[in-house]
Amino acid sequence: MKVLSLLGSTGSIGQSTLKVTSSFPDGFRIAGLSGGRNARQLASQIEQVRPDIASSGDEFISAEVQSLLRQRGYPMARTRFVHGVEGHIEVSCHPESTIVLSAIAGSAGLIPTYRALEQGKTIALANKETLVMAGELMMRKSREKGMELLPVDSEHNAIHQCLRGGRRDEVKRLILTASGGPFRETPKEKLSSVTVEQALNHPTWRMGRKITIDSATLMNKGLEVIEAAWLFGVEPDNIDVVVHPQSIVHSMVEFADGSILAQMGLTDMCIPIQYALTYPDRWHSPLPSLDIYRLPRLEFLEPEMDKFPCLGLAYRALRAGGTAPAVLNAANEVAVEAFLENEIAYHEISQVIESVMDAHVPTSVSDLEGILKADAWARGEARIFCHSAASSAAGI
Ligand code: MG
Repeated sequence: MKVLSLLGSTGSIGQSTLKVTSSFPDGFRIAGLSGGRNARQLASQIEQVRPDIASSGDEFISAEVQSLLRQRGYPMARTRFVHGVEGHIEVSCHPESTIVLSAIAGSAGLIPTYRALEQGKTIALANKETLVMAGELMMRKSREKGMELLPVDSEHNAIHQCLRGGRRDEVKRLILTASGGPFRETPKEKLSSVTVEQALNHPTWRMGRKITIDSATLMNKGLEVIEAAWLFGVEPDNIDVVVHPQSIVHSMVEFADGSILAQMGLTDMCIPIQYALTYPDRWHSPLPSLDIYRLPRLEFLEPEMDKFPCLGLAYRALRAGGTAPAVLNAANEVAVEAFLENEIAYHEISQVIESVMDAHVPTSVSDLEGILKADAWARGEARIFCHSAASSAAGI
């Protein structure tokens, strides 16, 4: 029986994780559960898995969760209720858990994930911001602890699988596939007038709002390039992006002899989640097989770098190193939030990020505090740029 702590249970990855674990009742026990702001959903999950400890976004959500559970006759003594970052850390560091599935979106997942890694737990990582912000620290710590980070992100999970086909010194390049998002065929000049609803309409994957907007700007792919560079120790020049709208090939690895290994599968996150939770074994999945005879025609296209400047900005941050990726990530979170609130236009997301990066002098990273400081600085700068964009749009 594998004992698991789940961070970010109410998000889309968290829900898929519970789907995977519930199909193997003798394979997994969830000792700790950490959700966000959806009290009703979190209460139902707690009822379902009966964890030792459950954390929620803040004390008010936690109170709501507890009152819902009391109404439903839940044995309250079964679970300890905590909240906030401290609560998430208690969940991730639960003494019995050997695996932590980290799926809290954005920078909020960094500290609880890092603390669990310090305790020598296996990390199944779905929160890409953790590696984007603190890749150097995370990788150093995982080497020190002799623990491997298992990627849940479908592309990195695919690469992790393909890399089992050769030695690291035989790898020539990584090829990350991208769906291209909802604006793949939208002309560049039309992008300034696209709406939040259009940006949220992703063609192949159903995900949270932040990552869906990141997919529309290709920043998601940019963050994944940075994530891949850290996870697999590959130089930026040896990581390519290919637009593959059907999302059937989840990524590829080219080896020195010219062989390319690709991983294919259903567009269902339960597959990479199950791989990460059962690695190095493979368990029988209850999902149907991919119907190879009914596949659409598979296309592979070059990404349009001038139409999607966020991708280039991510490569720039990766090459600059140090605090630059954390700054890119923080500026992006603020800009995406402002776009979702209708404060800035779609094309201004990349402009805000670029302005913040232009104003930043990257420094090397030695601890979590340095990263969090760069993160806070970038958020402040990004908010200033968002407000000035919003006021100039309003003619103020
Ligand atoms: Mg992905």
